[in-house]
Order: sequence, then structure tokens, then C-alpha cells
Amino acid sequence: MRQFAGVAASAGVAAGPWVRISPRAGPKGRRIDATEAEAEILRLEVAAAAAAEELDALAASVSADGHPDEGAIFGAQAAMARDPALTAMAADRVHDGHDAIGAIGAAGTDLADQLRALGDELLSARAADVEDVAGRIAGRLAGRTAAAPTLLEPAIVVATDLSPSVTAMLPRDRLLGLALEAGSPTAHAAILARAYSIPAVVGVAGLLAGLEDHLATPPEEGSGTAPGSGTLWIDGGAGEVVLDPDRPTAERLAALRREADQASRRALAEADLPVATRDGTTVSLLANIGTPAEADRAVALGAHGVGLFRTEFLFIERPQPPTEEEQLAAYRAVVDAFRPHPVTIRLLDVGGDKPIPYLAIPDEANPFLGVRALRLAPERPDLFVAQLRAAMRAAAPGRDGVAPTVKVMAPMVADAGDAELLLQLAARAQAELAAEGLPHGPVVLGVMLEIPGAVLVGDTYLGRLGFASLGTNDLLQYTLAVDRGNPALARYQDPMHPALLRLVHEAVQRSARAGAELSVCGEMAGDPVAALALVGLGIRHLSMASGSLAVVRRSIRSVDLATLEREATAALDEPSAAVIRRRFAGLAITA
Ligand code: PEP
Ligand code: MG
Repeated sequence: MRQFAGVAASAGVAAGPWVRISPRAGPKGRRIDATEAEAEILRLEVAAAAAAEELDALAASVSADGHPDEGAIFGAQAAMARDPALTAMAADRVHDGHDAIGAIGAAGTDLADQLRALGDELLSARAADVEDVAGRIAGRLAGRTAAAPTLLEPAIVVATDLSPSVTAMLPRDRLLGLALEAGSPTAHAAILARAYSIPAVVGVAGLLAGLEDHLATPPEEGSGTAPGSGTLWIDGGAGEVVLDPDRPTAERLAALRREADQASRRALAEADLPVATRDGTTVSLLANIGTPAEADRAVALGAHGVGLFRTEFLFIERPQPPTEEEQLAAYRAVVDAFRPHPVTIRLLDVGGDKPIPYLAIPDEANPFLGVRALRLAPERPDLFVAQLRAAMRAAAPGRDGVAPTVKVMAPMVADAGDAELLLQLAARAQAELAAEGLPHGPVVLGVMLEIPGAVLVGDTYLGRLGFASLGTNDLLQYTLAVDRGNPALARYQDPMHPALLRLVHEAVQRSARAGAELSVCGEMAGDPVAALALVGLGIRHLSMASGSLAVVRRSIRSVDLATLEREATAALDEPSAAVIRRRFAGLAITA
């Protein structure tokens, strides 16, 4: 038995034969002299254009295959291949004496390294896309056509990392699971795995070296595929990879697999059950998503809309901001998937700890307290107006003449001044669209309540908005002064803390008086015990990761509102999160 620990990327347990896939070595470049430079740059541009067309075709075929959102990934790669910044970087290297092949390879590696060096998970994940595009252009220059690794039998694929195009080209009916040494849950390989419901574990340290001695046959020269011996198990929910487990481990994993299969069958079967307490109070459950690719699964699991569409993902994917048209396509895809339910698009929440190279925000000593999210708007109103324009265009009536419900919310709003800023940006977007005669529809404007001060002065601005959504992840961070990413402070990270519950209570009172709908979209909403406290405090809209919908639905259906209200009132006077959690844990049926 060999065991490896990695990061959970796509839930589910898979077991079976495995193959190792290694990237084909890229074509080698050569040194050139100055007289060849012009011709090499021309070759480069022609190859980049051809690669972009190839990617457009791949985007179309993946979309036609019933996965329009995954197709969009290749659409974005086509845009990268067409991006003059990438070819300009490569042209600089041609002037330094590299031929087109060497130059595009070096430019792709440099750009990918720059993205990785930023230390941000999402940006690092995009590095694989840049390398993928550069490799494709180099392949064209060397006269290669893209070849997908094949799986002759159903198998789990083991690799250092997989480019999005290789992941998409793997035959889905034979791909049992993915185990990657590199990568992160936000890399495209992981996103595709989740979209296709294929169990995946990423970031598995030592995986390839650990399995090297277990290859059945050495890899064929140039094929990149080497079958392994023995049975590989992966638990995509726990991030575990095991080769030839001993009996107790195999039994544990097999039991987990039965449970996971049962849970996902049950989650789908229960997706249409009404979500109401036993005494009849309805609660709407919505999904948090980061990409259009997640929409279908959320709908299948019974989400009645999107309570939080984190749009950062669209911006982090690339060397420059997405165009309004690209955003429109993404928003429209989500809106169409959820009709007639509402979709809440959150304006860009970047800056501070999530730097984006093209935004060039100066380093800050306290990025969580710095120029992030809406605080960027005075400097870069163009970014926010483009988002609002795209959202308003996605809100135009469809072919059936029915307008969808599109909501737009601003993150990191501190007070009435920030709310006013949102209203002004929206007014500008609307006036521009009207002047240009572009079809658009009304959007409902709202704010995230994730700064304690913003909750306390909510009565000064909520009346001008349609809704507010409590971002309990940041609200807890700012209420207790605990960095949400610091594991050393884990004991403060339970949102059942009485200080947080008192703020939720305040928010419920103030939004009700203002007539603004209130929801919760922080992780707390997806916790089947904490969700009960929220319902007891008066919250009726909970937005969460799709995977939590089933368990929260079950929890709510198992209790009476009267009990929750009594417990919530008592909880406000308790001294600690632990005591409050115990109160509610006893009430929920989550199994
Ligand atoms: C939150 O802060 O609770 C939230 C939902 O936003 P994010 O986690 O994206 O900061
Ligand atoms: Mg937040």
C-alpha cells in the first residue's frame, strides 16, 4: 500500500486501473541571427492565429457536446492566443536571438512564472492556461497537430498537471478520476473535473516519484502515456490517493464510495423537495458559483437561483480584463441556466490580497484593510461600469419576452457613501446603454454586508437598495480581527460566535425596516447547523456551495421554526460559539 495526501478538488471516490500521462516534450527551438528575425516574427504571428482558430474550433466542439461553459474556457484561451501582449513578449525574445519556437516557449514560461510568483491560487491556476496556449503555438510552428492522450480502458489519470485542453480531450466515459501532483482546486483541470462530476485530487506531493516503481511498462517514446500496475483509489472529497490499499483501508474507502454514491443519488433525488421547516416556513436555497461551468450542477441539485456569482474568476483568468461582450456571455449563460430564478452577480472583489497584474495596485501593509473591491472604483470606474453594463444587458428580456431577475451587488461596502457610489456607477451604465440603444433590462442593486460598521449604519442606506447579503466570511474576520486565512487562529473561526449572531440580528432588523431583502452568502449558510441559527434569527434566503444544498435542505426540513426562534433568542446572550453550536447541533437532522 502507498498513501498520498493532496487537496480535495472534486468530490467522489474512484477506484480502478491507472495511467500516468506525461506532457509530450515541447519542440526545441534554435538560435538565429538578426537577419532571420523578421521572418520568425511573421511565422510566430501566423502560428498564433492558427492556434487561436484551433482553440475556437475546440471551444465549439466542447460546447456542441453539451458543455458550453467548458467551451468558454477554450474561447478564453483563443483570446490569449490572439493577445498581442503574448506575441509581443515572444517577439522580444526573437530579437534576443531565439527562433519563433524558442521565443514563444520562453514567453509562455515567463508569463506563467510571473502569474505563479504572485502567490495567488487563482492566478497560479491560470498559469497552466498560458503554458497550454504557448505550447499549442509552438506545436503549430513545429508542424504538429494537437494530439490527445488516449485511454483505451477506463482508468484514473495520474499526472504532474494537466492542461485544460488535455483534460477536456480525455474521453469522459473512460476517465474514472484524476490525481495531480500540482494544481489547485481552482485550476481549470479541477473545474472541468467538478463540472463533469469526476473525482479529483490535486496538489499531491511526491505522487509521481512515489508511483514511478509501479509503472506496468515504461512509457512509449513520444506517447506520454504509461499504464500503472495495481489498483489506485482516490477520495476527491478528502484529498486522499492510495495505491493497493491494505484490507482495512480498502474497506474504509469502499464504504466511503458507497456513501458518496448514495449521498449524490439522494441529493439529486431530493433536489425538488420543498425547503420549509416542519411548521411551514419556507426558506430559499441558492448557489454560490465562481464560473458558468458550475451552473448546471447547481440547478440539478435544486438551487433556486444564484445568491453569489463571484466574478473575480473571469478577471483572474487573463492578462487583461475581459471585454464587456465576454462578461455578457458569461452572465447570460448563468441567467439562462437558472431562469426563472434570480441570479446575483457580485462586482469585482479583487485588490488587496488578490492582486491582478494589470490593475497594478501598489503593495499594501494590510491588504485586507486596503484598496479592495468597490474601493477600487474611484480609480477604475471603467471596470465596474463595464460589469454593470454587461449585467444590465444580460437582464434584457429573452426571446419569450420575459425579463430575467438579475441582481448586482457591491462587495466591501462600508457606509452610505459606498452605496451612493454603487448607485452612481449603475446610473452611468444605464445612461450609456440607453444612449447607445443597446437592449438591456433593470437590475436590482444591493450590497454585501461584510464590514461590521456597514451593518450598524445599514438604516442610512438600505432603503435606497433592493437587497443586502451577509458575507459572513469577511464579517467574522473584521468583527473578531482574525485573518480568515490564518490556520493558527482556527479557534476564532466559528461563525456561531455571539458577536456575529448579534450582527446578523442587527442586519435582519435594519433591512426589514428599510424594506430590503436580506440573504446570507458566506460559508455559514452552507453549514447545516449554523444555517438553523440563521433561520432562527429571521434569514429566509441562504446561498451556498452547491454541494451543501442537500444537507442544509434536510436540516431545515427537520425542525420547527418556533424552536429555532427560541434558541436563536437565547443564543444572543450566550458567551461562546461552542455553547451556541451545541444548542443547535442537537436540533438538526443532517444525516
Ligand atoms: C464573504 O465574505 O462571506 C463572502 C461571501 O465573500 P468572499 O468569501 O468572496 O470574500
Ligand atoms: Mg467577502
